[in-house]
Amino acid sequence: MPEIPDLEAVRHYLMPRLAGLKVTNTDAPIPWLVRTGADALASLEGRAFGEIHRLGKFLIVFVDDTRLLVINPMLTGRFHWIEATAKKPGRLGVVVGFDNGMEMRFSDMRRMGRWYLVPQDGLAEIPQWATLGPDAMAITEEEFLGRLKARRGQIKATLTNQEFMAGIGNAYSDEILWEAGLHPHRRRATMSEDDLRGLYAAMRKVLEESIQIVDATVQEEGLGKKEEWRQHLKVHRRLGEPCPRCGSEIKGQVRSGSETNYCVVCQPLFE
Ligand SMILES: [Zn+2]
Repeated sequence: MPEIPDLEAVRHYLMPRLAGLKVTNTDAPIPWLVRTGADALASLEGRAFGEIHRLGKFLIVFVDDTRLLVINPMLTGRFHWIEATAKKPGRLGVVVGFDNGMEMRFSDMRRMGRWYLVPQDGLAEIPQWATLGPDAMAITEEEFLGRLKARRGQIKATLTNQEFMAGIGNAYSDEILWEAGLHPHRRRATMSEDDLRGLYAAMRKVLEESIQIVDATVQEEGLGKKEEWRQHLKVHRRLGEPCPRCGSEIKGQVRSGSETNYCVVCQPLFE
């Protein structure tokens, strides 16, 4: 599932490429991805896109008629920027074509992505929007500590809870907790204020570094080769490999389909 560094890379890649172009054609081969109605997609024809913003796992594309195109790729949504004549990918969900012969395509193996076309004051129409927490790149240290006070669950579950804070998922929560030296099952009550401040600092470090790395990869390779976007991760999906800090074997647990990885030496459960 795309998380903040992935979506930042998509945003930085697409925004300059879309500038000055007009939409010439639209199509939704998987119509239900467009939750506000695939029929309305055609109303983008003749329009242009402006800035692309992001909140949590949502990309927000400004349309020049004051509407917003809001996209949450969910588990397997993938963006493509390619000539209109190029071969279509499998599970092509939505296509937006432009007057320079390029297409922004969205493919989705699991077909769970969510597109919304709403008025600028219509974000509340989007399910879960009203309960989204602050973005992980925007939250201040004091706000982070303050919001954590009310949370009693396991720290990994809290970091990935979009109502607590938006934008972190399964992969980057593992990376942040490893960086902070905190076991994913630790509870906030067992952590000192230094632990919590260290967690915030680890989050900033991991996200900032990862945004740079994924950005550079995408600028060089384009949007297609997603498997390369996660090569810099240190513990997530590295079960059995040596911990880059201490050399111990990375452990893993799978719960409801998602894997949690950590180092028991660097991230002890009890202190
Ligand atoms: Zn270790």
